[in-house]
Amino acid sequence: MKVNYLRLSITDFCNLHCIYCRSSFSRNVHLAHSELLSFEEMELVIHWMAKWGIKKVRITGGEPLLKKSIATLVNMIQKIPGIDEITMTTNGTKLRQFALELKQAGLKRVNVSLDSLNRKNFLKITGDDKLYEVLEGIKTAQKVGLNPVKINTVVLKGINDVEIPDFIKFSMENSVAVRFIEYMPIGKQNKKNLYFSNITVKRIIEKDFGVLLPLNFSYKGEPAKYYKVGESKAIVGFISPISYPFCKDCNRLRLTADGKLYPCLLSNSFENVKKVLRGGGGEGEVKHLFDLALLKKVNLRNSPHLAYQKRPMFQIGG
Ligand code: SAM
Repeated sequence: MKVNYLRLSITDFCNLHCIYCRSSFSRNVHLAHSELLSFEEMELVIHWMAKWGIKKVRITGGEPLLKKSIATLVNMIQKIPGIDEITMTTNGTKLRQFALELKQAGLKRVNVSLDSLNRKNFLKITGDDKLYEVLEGIKTAQKVGLNPVKINTVVLKGINDVEIPDFIKFSMENSVAVRFIEYMPIGKQNKKNLYFSNITVKRIIEKDFGVLLPLNFSYKGEPAKYYKVGESKAIVGFISPISYPFCKDCNRLRLTADGKLYPCLLSNSFENVKKVLRGGGGEGEVKHLFDLALLKKVNLRNSPHLAYQKRPMFQIGG
């Protein structure tokens, strides 16, 4: 499997405080501006990586839409020869205001993280009363053509598992694919008791909505497996890193907001691109780091070991 996909985290800051990601961190804890890669540094590194095989970039964070000049970055990446597609993962709270600008700058699609359709539960999970903003953001993204909008829902035992049928109805009524993601116990947030298997999610859906029929339009390397829900037009996806690990098909590297290149979400080993860049290193030196990350990736794919990541998802870029 060729590595052609970069997940680019542009900030570790987030305006939500999800119980499984950021809630044990103080609200305003984030890296100093000087520690983050600048947009120009990101552009340079992606320009090189495009020569070494990267074709797709997904922008993430932290919350990427907290960067007011985000459309400028999308536009910079969009101009890089060899980059075919730029997408984004966002919590959607600021999507309504940025959607059109992002589309015009060259963003193809968005995935919106949404763990509850119930205002009280949304507040309980995220620490913020912003469900309305997210729903408006989803509608706006669809309207401006950032389609297909996909919803990412982490199912948490005893917290939002009761909402699984509501998400299927939401998918049917709003023409969005919902993707159920298994909670990964990583970082110091590690709360194993929240884990809810996608095997059970499937069973719940089939009980209420009929048989799930497998679809095979996932592109190679996509972690989600998609199904059609019963007789309806609704499509549901499952990302099951725990019950159905997909390491051998993984085609991505991750560059964190502080310039560290990770071969894998679950690896604690990284190459320090920022240090090399700011120490005067150029294309050759960064290529060496890229090759090291690729080598580690190949080894991890051959013998995956789920050594749980010490950094929480908002610092790695989920
Ligand atoms: N702020 C953006 C967002 O909310 O989509 C991007 C960053 S967020 C870290 C990316 C995704 O990671 C979200 O869908 C979030 O639910 C997911 N995530 C965070 N911690 C996770 C965990 N421990 N297990 C599974 N998914 C997790």
